Amino acid sequence: MNIQKYSIHDGPGIRTTVFLKGCPLNCWWCHNPESQKSNPEIMFFKEKCKSCGLCLKMCPQKAIEFVDGYPVTNEGKCNLCGKCTDFCTSNAREIIGKEMTVKDLMKEIIKDEAFYDESNGGVTFSGGEPLMHADYLNDILRACKNRGIHTTIDTSGYTDWSQFEKIIDNTDLFLFDIKHMDNEKHFKYMGVGNTVILENLKKLSERGSNIYIRMPIIAGVNDDDKNIDAAVDFISKLNIIHVNLLPYHKMGMDKYVRLNKKYKLSGLEKPSDEVMDKIADKFKKAGIKTKIGG
Ligand code: SF4
Ligand code: SF4
Repeated sequence: MNIQKYSIHDGPGIRTTVFLKGCPLNCWWCHNPESQKSNPEIMFFKEKCKSCGLCLKMCPQKAIEFVDGYPVTNEGKCNLCGKCTDFCTSNAREIIGKEMTVKDLMKEIIKDEAFYDESNGGVTFSGGEPLMHADYLNDILRACKNRGIHTTIDTSGYTDWSQFEKIIDNTDLFLFDIKHMDNEKHFKYMGVGNTVILENLKKLSERGSNIYIRMPIIAGVNDDDKNIDAAVDFISKLNIIHVNLLPYHKMGMDKYVRLNKKYKLSGLEKPSDEVMDKIADKFKKAGIKTKIGG
């Protein structure tokens, strides 16, 4: 989906973060809604569009119609040929996602090898859920390990354990998300339960993998004492390096408009510093090394 250079919040040092498209979860606050579908898709930037109608004229599939003065794409008809993006001189249309071979991706990754070496950084695979592509992922992880590049996977943990088995030996660090300890609420806000996620986390911990836990804090969703206490209790029994508490923010809302998707948490505000400190204190009191932020 994207390759982001000079990332400093996705693991140690300076990193290249590779975002793989496709995710089995559907979190209400997802910052990267363009990562949810596995296939490429069209993103539309309304603020750039001059309503010239050229995209509509050039589309061989007749997949575009004008609604309220702006082009809307019918996904059922669009075959992602890219003609509309080529002809739009305003760059108001973009295809998100493309296929890359392991060789081509490695070419991008090794461009910044000097930064990894100097900063003890490396490469992070995020998404979406990178483990949806475990075979491809393992090929690229192995290629990184063969060059001595540190590897990190940012995962929701929602996959069959057999997919972890494929990549575990070539992964130096896991950034593992915990979003809610209550199975029903997890299902409500993420679209899937948390049983598999928590079991996989326990297994990774037992295997001795390096783990940073990442917990987004979303006001009114998972910041209550009951949930935080349950998370503290669960994590205190694991072998992890530290917890990152990530205050929810609304970044990413514009992307929903660009993808013609509905954003379900528009009324929510970022948790205050006081709330974040109180939550962090609970983790610290249980002896868990904890940071606020990435
Ligand atoms: S998306 Fe581009 S080509 Fe289509 S109407 Fe807007 S400016 Fe014109
Ligand atoms: S990508 Fe091709 S088929 Fe899809 S809307 Fe654009 S021109 Fe039409």
